[in-house]
Amino acid sequence: MKKKETCYGILAMQQAVALGVYVYIPKLVVSGIIYQENGRSIFKDSLGAHYPLATECRSMSENQLVILHLADDMEDWKTPTETCIKLQEKALRKLYLGFQDPTAEKVKIFSYNLFNVGKELELSLVAQKRIEDTSKKDALGEMLNQVNGDEIIPLTKEELEKIVKLPSLEAIQRRLKELLSGNEALTAHFMESEESKEDFLPLDMSHLSGERLLKYFDDACIAVRNAKTLLSVEKILCRLEESLKDVISTLTTWEKDEKEAKDIDVACEYGFRLVDEVDLIISSNNLDHIRNDVLNMQRTERGNVRQLAVIYDKYHKIEEEAKRRAEIERKKELSANNRSSKKIQAKELKAFLDRFVIGQEQAKRMVVSALVMNQLSENPEDRTSCLLVGPTGSGKTLIAETVSKYLDIPIEIVDITQVTVPGYVGGDLEDGLSKLLAKAGGDVKKAEEGVIVFDEIDKKGTEKNSDVSGRGVLHTLLSFVQGTTYNVKYNGKVVPFSTRKLTIFATGAFTEVVNKKRKTSDGKGYHQTAIGFNTVIEPPKKEDVTYPLLMPEDFVTYGNMPDELMGRFTTIAQLQGQTKESLRKILVEAENSPLLSEKKKLEKLGVTLCWTEGYLEAIVEEAMKRGTGARSLKSTIEKSILDARWEAIVNLGTYCSIVLTNKSVQDPFDCEMINQEGVSLKLRDILEAETFQSTSFEEKEKVKAIGTFPKK
Ligand code: ADP
Repeated sequence: MKKKETCYGILAMQQAVALGVYVYIPKLVVSGIIYQENGRSIFKDSLGAHYPLATECRSMSENQLVILHLADDMEDWKTPTETCIKLQEKALRKLYLGFQDPTAEKVKIFSYNLFNVGKELELSLVAQKRIEDTSKKDALGEMLNQVNGDEIIPLTKEELEKIVKLPSLEAIQRRLKELLSGNEALTAHFMESEESKEDFLPLDMSHLSGERLLKYFDDACIAVRNAKTLLSVEKILCRLEESLKDVISTLTTWEKDEKEAKDIDVACEYGFRLVDEVDLIISSNNLDHIRNDVLNMQRTERGNVRQLAVIYDKYHKIEEEAKRRAEIERKKELSANNRSSKKIQAKELKAFLDRFVIGQEQAKRMVVSALVMNQLSENPEDRTSCLLVGPTGSGKTLIAETVSKYLDIPIEIVDITQVTVPGYVGGDLEDGLSKLLAKAGGDVKKAEEGVIVFDEIDKKGTEKNSDVSGRGVLHTLLSFVQGTTYNVKYNGKVVPFSTRKLTIFATGAFTEVVNKKRKTSDGKGYHQTAIGFNTVIEPPKKEDVTYPLLMPEDFVTYGNMPDELMGRFTTIAQLQGQTKESLRKILVEAENSPLLSEKKKLEKLGVTLCWTEGYLEAIVEEAMKRGTGARSLKSTIEKSILDARWEAIVNLGTYCSIVLTNKSVQDPFDCEMINQEGVSLKLRDILEAETFQSTSFEEKEKVKAIGTFPKK
């Protein structure tokens, strides 16, 4: 090979995993020239470093750098950047194995689609629970590392392809070992034989029965007679031995009375004898002797194995029955425990709320305090319900949801504007309860201890609202909150549902109440909050949506709430409007932050999501513009990441990071994609290069003429 012009190659680490077998780990794409020296081709990169070509390098030294693949179809790739990207994509998606060709002085390189091989490997390994979360590439690397042969493996491409497609690491390893033994006849046999024939797995103890035990013993004896090597015979016998030991230990752990103990002792005795015999047979180290001994063993011991199987079945049945009964008891106990709801620990609940709800200290404390007091109250009449008041997106619903998460109880949010009194078109309160019941899986007791949120309670019964039944609904809420029994439809049946133990929240922005109160208040626009804990709060910043302190009577005087209902909502927790600072905190600190959850998900794909301070600012700015508190954060983030995420997930393994900047918020293509080699490219440029790649020659010429694609 002789090239004078600049060419591109994949620089890879060559690792010898057995004599004559190499695996290559792609590192970088480099540009340089090829020159000849002593009849060998050498690659000299643009920085002056020299590397041998992989096909000509037979080094046993560890971590030798070689040039793996040369870009020879350069004409399709117009710019160096494009070439690098394409070449890198090519390298990262493939598994390269090198085998020294014993007939020539060269190394034959075979590349395999890593995804296909990896997928097959992963599927079978996960199914067999051999690996939990190892990357596909590592699994194969590890496999090759385990092959410590000391001979060259002569392999044809077809043979190798068969090997990498085998369904398990063990099978691949076994085949390579078989080939290493150099036995041609065996190789031929092995290539033809089906994987399942030679696979003799340990006894499946989870579905064990006497019949299976006996069959396993017979199968092991047959497998020994058919096996071709001492190694596989040993493996089969060891598995038989291990399985017998498992059966014995299971038998001995069963609880038994005196008579049963005797039976089991006899059975175990048979088992131990068999284990000793198998041990003795293995130690002979002669294939023919072993085959004979196994034949004898099958003849003399089969009756005893059957006896062992009978006893196993007998006690297994007794044991299963006992387990079944214990399980029923356990379930009963569990559901009884579940019903006596979790005891609220104030500190623990507050800390739990802090993880999800940023800021809103006062409101969180009031809610925790109310819930603890409710739990202590012996008289259901004493229970208080919480009215959460605050601007949109301040976290009212989030508080209720977090409480339900903490208590592990179902929650149903009822949009009160959609509820009507009987006789009017619309939903009724029973609908909400039946949804709650469905969320509790039909367990009425559990549903009765759930959380109900009456959302937008401030919008019901106001003059503006054309809904004539509005105030009627608010009045019916009274009996709901006081505690009554509804007939709730569930699964075609009518179930009595008591509301006495429900945790009830009502939420609303109450802007009208606030505005009217402001007009009549001292004109400052805000008061220091003094409800409950008397904590002094900072005067609000300019952009704050800060409410004046609202008193229970304000909701009656300026709003729609009936006096009696307010008597039930004695806990009024006021939430503050979001500020730039609180929104930023939600993004980077809240456990359910949409940004952090995106980051976590991408991490599972090996992509690190990063952002600049400018990005956070721009997201916050956008949220402030929309005026819906923290509500818009999720959709704005989603919009800005959508295209970058798509590029990363369809080209798995290509990118290691995505960097979002302030510009990404307005223009999702304006973000940086960093590939595995640390090269940072704008998403827009990557996509344009891809489009360029797929356009026809004529179109490309046109594009070049008008200069749409960036020139690098
Ligand atoms: P509302 O006050 O209108 O009921 P929500 O509780 O429904 O607002 O909030 C909407 C979303 O905004 C929540 O799902 C959450 O992601 C986010 N959010 C709002 N307030 C907070 C907060 N204080 N802390 C963390 N996230 C918040």
